[in-house]
Amino acid sequence: MERNHIRETDPAVADALAGERARQENTLAMIASENHVSEAVLEAQGSALTNKYAEGYPGSRYYAGCEYADDIEELAIERAKKLWGAEHINVQPHSGTQANMAVYLSILEPGDKILSLDLTHGGHLSHGHPANFTGQTYTVEQYEVNQETGYIDYDGLRDKAETFDPDIIVSGYSAYPREVDFERIQLAADAANAYHLADIAHITGLVAAGVHQSPVGVADFVTGSTHKTIRSGRGGIIMTQSEHASDIDNSVFPGAQGGPLMHNIAGKAVGFKEALSDDFEQYAAQTVANAEALADTLSDAGLAVVSGGTDNHLVLVDLRPSHPDTTGKDVEAALESTGIIMNANTVPGETRSPFEPSGIRLGTAALTTRGFNEAATREVGELIIDIVKNYDDQAIISDVSERVDELTNEYTLYQ
Ligand SMILES: *Cc1c(COP(=O)(O)O)cnc(C)c1O
Repeated sequence: MERNHIRETDPAVADALAGERARQENTLAMIASENHVSEAVLEAQGSALTNKYAEGYPGSRYYAGCEYADDIEELAIERAKKLWGAEHINVQPHSGTQANMAVYLSILEPGDKILSLDLTHGGHLSHGHPANFTGQTYTVEQYEVNQETGYIDYDGLRDKAETFDPDIIVSGYSAYPREVDFERIQLAADAANAYHLADIAHITGLVAAGVHQSPVGVADFVTGSTHKTIRSGRGGIIMTQSEHASDIDNSVFPGAQGGPLMHNIAGKAVGFKEALSDDFEQYAAQTVANAEALADTLSDAGLAVVSGGTDNHLVLVDLRPSHPDTTGKDVEAALESTGIIMNANTVPGETRSPFEPSGIRLGTAALTTRGFNEAATREVGELIIDIVKNYDDQAIISDVSERVDELTNEYTLYQ
């Protein structure tokens, strides 16, 4: 048996870590931004690189002893270039939010104008929300989805761009189930003489696998999180054309960050290697097929699936038409007690508060990593329907829990 150093040093943390591992094993992760990385990525993130300061970039660091840090960062960049095809890649952002921060820093002055999607329509805090530095530093105007169709209102976006005259238009979302037409948004950016940032945080893996169109080579800047559908080490990434390379690198370090998290960059390198395999293309296609199967199951049962379906890894349900007295939080709590972990979410045209919103957001990326196919995902959809209809019925909650236990035993995660 390998020594368990944490257990010897710190039983309280060891207990919590063991609990978390068991929690992931014994529940179904349907939070759309989550996934399960491989043991190899876990090892990289838990490696001795956490000790290393490597401020700067490969070949030009501020400290000695960076030869292995250089190797790893170069591997991460080289693999990312193969995955996404960008001219220049920076793998140092600590998170997707830090990646966005570096892009804004590189081209905007305080007070400059951002045009982005409303948060309740699927946008992200780092796209200009008042509670975020972006909302406090820049002038923000928002575009929306069409509330009838659930699709981005591209004409509305173009018209807003014309009147607002933004310095940057942000595309890419946190709760948008449809394919994003990056070229169409680029046309609006061109017409407004604005930069275009495509934030593909959620769909990095789908874009890498070619199951979602790519904004690389279309938008000026592409950012992402590296732990969502791409399933690598936790953090962020920026992709851009060579002309912006040094501005972006300077904005990440020293502009927005200090020393890079080299252990996470090692996790990115390992995850990117895994994502270059044919298996990963298959994984990404299955993730989308599973989301489609889930959307069909829910809408066949009479639930209002926003936009009528999905093109990616997530499904957004508006509970109001079918269950006007049930909130997303009611469903989230009941599902959590059965072992299905997802989140309540705002929906376009939200009439409740963000703390008690009217929708639920479900993702298939983590289930697909465990080996779920369409049939198994449909079954999870049926369990979700049971709970939506009977969220306060203990007998049904315990039936669903039993079935979740069987599914987690059948589709194991870590051996
Ligand atoms: C998840 C997400 C991010 C960034 O997430 P971090 O938690 O900071 O890595 C940025 N933009 C969008 C659209 C996201 O969904």
